[in-house]
Amino acid sequence: MINCEEAARKLYEYLDRQLTDAEAAEVREHLERCPPCLDYYRFEEGVLTRVGQVCREVQVPSALVERVRKMCAESQSRS
Ligand SMILES: [Zn+2]
Repeated sequence: MINCEEAARKLYEYLDRQLTDAEAAEVREHLERCPPCLDYYRFEEGVLTRVGQVCREVQVPSALVERVRKMCAESQSRS
């Protein structure tokens, strides 16, 4: 089972269909169990659809990964 940070790091490759089947399955499984990451995924999916190829070379900002990790930790400590 991958954690939120790994899911966030792999999200762009997942959206670009660049992961192996096994990795994609791990990300998908995490998204199903983690609503904050799913929201993040939906948001990024929408952004990528709009910007198309323009931002493909941009690295995932570490601050963004950190923010998602915190959101997930908060949601998990509540349950
Ligand atoms: Zn998560």
